[in-house]
Amino acid sequence: MKMKYLGTAAAEGWPALFCQCEACAKAKQLGGKNVRTRSQCIVDDTLLIDFPPDTYMHMLNNQIDLPHIEHLIVTHTHQDHFYPLDLILRGFPYAHVLDRSKLHIYGNDQVGTMYDSALAAEGDSSDVRELVEFHEVTAFHPFQAGEYTITPLLASHDKREKCYIYIIERAGKRILYGNDTGNFPEATWEYLGNNNFRFDLASYDCTLIMYPEGKNHMGLSDTVQVTQRLKELNCVDEHTRYILTHFSHNGSLMHEEIEQEAAKHGFGVAYDGFEIEF
Ligand SMILES: [Zn+2]
Ligand SMILES: [Zn+2]
Ligand SMILES: [Zn+2]
Repeated sequence: MKMKYLGTAAAEGWPALFCQCEACAKAKQLGGKNVRTRSQCIVDDTLLIDFPPDTYMHMLNNQIDLPHIEHLIVTHTHQDHFYPLDLILRGFPYAHVLDRSKLHIYGNDQVGTMYDSALAAEGDSSDVRELVEFHEVTAFHPFQAGEYTITPLLASHDKREKCYIYIIERAGKRILYGNDTGNFPEATWEYLGNNNFRFDLASYDCTLIMYPEGKNHMGLSDTVQVTQRLKELNCVDEHTRYILTHFSHNGSLMHEEIEQEAAKHGFGVAYDGFEIEF
């Protein structure tokens, strides 16, 4: 399997849209891996995770064949993860979808509600609904998306909706996609403990970098604790790879500094365009 990180920032991007802080100024000045867009990933160039406002830029920078992406899983409705107004652009006259191929979106009930509202704002007059189909998925109930078996797990994030982290499996390989979330809720730990999962890749929310939080997001110390508990449950072993992502300017450290801290725990650090095969 191959995982590509298209965007690796929290909601505001880094440098943040309107920010005057030192961490944003430094990222602007240094450029390269320090410039981070809103979080999105693609598995095997096929399965898209989240749909932020930077999707268009990600398509341009990574030669993603968006018209032929058939499956999109959405973690939750925060705008850095789901920007449904751009889905309108799949309909005529914004797009000529000659082969009428369909995009399937999987997410919680509020993802569906927001998709409906976006279409309603356009008067529901286009052919988007024929080309983009929403599927509501529920925590701890695996579903099939093309060749992938996907299981939503409850995240510890915005309590106003059921935010999900995901298990993604194909051909005997398994990813734990873990943002946005704090240290996982007990229901998720229980499910992981009862189902003998072994992960080849654990991808973690590390929004706050060196600041611990454990509630709605994680910092490095939270990801260390999560890893420890995954080890106790035999969900990870010496072959598991760990990648940190979804960074906020409030965490201050530049990419190389995050790498130094993460390396102490055997973790890798994603940047926009980073790719890992396993
Ligand atoms: Zn986020
Ligand atoms: Zn800033
Ligand atoms: Zn969020």
